[in-house]
Amino acid sequence: MPELTPLHPWIAQKIGCAPEALTRAAIAAYQLDRLNETLALCRARSPFYRQKLAGLPEKRAALADLQALPFTTAEDVRERPLSLLTVSQSEIARVVTLDSSGTSGPPKRLYFTAADQELTRDFFHVGMATFTKPGDRVLILLPGERPGSVGDLLAQALPRLGGTGIPHGLVTDVAQALGILHAEKATGVVGMPVQVLALVRASAAQQFPRPQLKSVLLTTDHVPAAIVQAVEAAWDCTVYNHYGMTEMGLGGGVECAARTGYHLREADLFFEVVDPQTGEPVADGTYGELVFTTLTRRGMPLLRYRIGDISRFLSGACGCGTALRRLEAVRFRWHGRFPHIPSHFLTMADLDDAIFPLPGVLDFAAVVSETSLQLTVWAEDMGGLETAVTQALAKLPAVRELGLAVAVKVLPGRVNPPGKRKLTITSLAGTEPG
Ligand SMILES: [Zn+2]
Repeated sequence: MPELTPLHPWIAQKIGCAPEALTRAAIAAYQLDRLNETLALCRARSPFYRQKLAGLPEKRAALADLQALPFTTAEDVRERPLSLLTVSQSEIARVVTLDSSGTSGPPKRLYFTAADQELTRDFFHVGMATFTKPGDRVLILLPGERPGSVGDLLAQALPRLGGTGIPHGLVTDVAQALGILHAEKATGVVGMPVQVLALVRASAAQQFPRPQLKSVLLTTDHVPAAIVQAVEAAWDCTVYNHYGMTEMGLGGGVECAARTGYHLREADLFFEVVDPQTGEPVADGTYGELVFTTLTRRGMPLLRYRIGDISRFLSGACGCGTALRRLEAVRFRWHGRFPHIPSHFLTMADLDDAIFPLPGVLDFAAVVSETSLQLTVWAEDMGGLETAVTQALAKLPAVRELGLAVAVKVLPGRVNPPGKRKLTITSLAGTEPG
């Protein structure tokens, strides 16, 4: 039986019960109390929420009553961030400005107090304990230059479990990053899927000795099964998957040793899955849009924040034996699919699964329109790849159903620029503005 997720005793402690007493009912009772606290805080301090909650009952009697509350959207955060704050600006320890490329209007800004940042450090400590032991040394290939950034908080969290965080930042020079991986005798790596894949491919091509890694945590983007397999085969380690975003306080959930879905920070965040078109909740096991409510955040609480990611709660208990729920790995965003109507729509994850199994592929960019799909593929070894990619794409049901003309260009390897990879949609027909 896989080891119990360390999130289980941690959440039991936060809730105030013994680990063996952690049931769905105990979690729900705690979440309802924290939700009502958050609602009271929002009404008292946030002009945005005071207006949004006007006329609604002061308290929720059950978690299901949350459905009567309006959603908070990315546009709300973008347009009126300061009116969401429930503390004075002098109490804010960190402001994160998110890239607004592809959208009009001001960038998104998220505000955190020192206490909010401590909640993230605490989660990183416990989440990393899933696969990190005292004495382990973890190379952090995430932005960490600024105090309070994801890499910085992770580096601060690791000593709490007796480990060492080695801050590096995003990979811009693959050979240099590999050199540091070896020189620092890293036993673990945290990074973005395509960046870690670039290290794996270069490690083999440049005949670096195999690093002595035990685990790799992939985060910030869809994690293709082919990348997990490539990393595990090359480095003889176990790959875990983390889900989070800045709005969640960077961390959201992490796989346990069973690796069948994320366990979530259920003491700090309440997740719902709703129909992306109607906003109505869907049953466990059904796909829908993820929505979360912060339960313990003090700087900028978010009520029913629409993430745009599509996933589902998995039915049945986890193999690790916890009462915590399991969220299936997120594959795509509602506005990141093409086109809107047919049963077989195309997502970046579909392309990932078709392209990354091909040997030598480092990364790709995709542009889709009503009639064509253009791929630029970066690769270590370009021989025969154009044909192989074209054949792999032709097998995708969406490409066949939509009759897309496929064009493939293969270029020599590069280090991908940071940021989430997404399908670029150039046609407006059949899509929604997003
Ligand atoms: Zn589990």
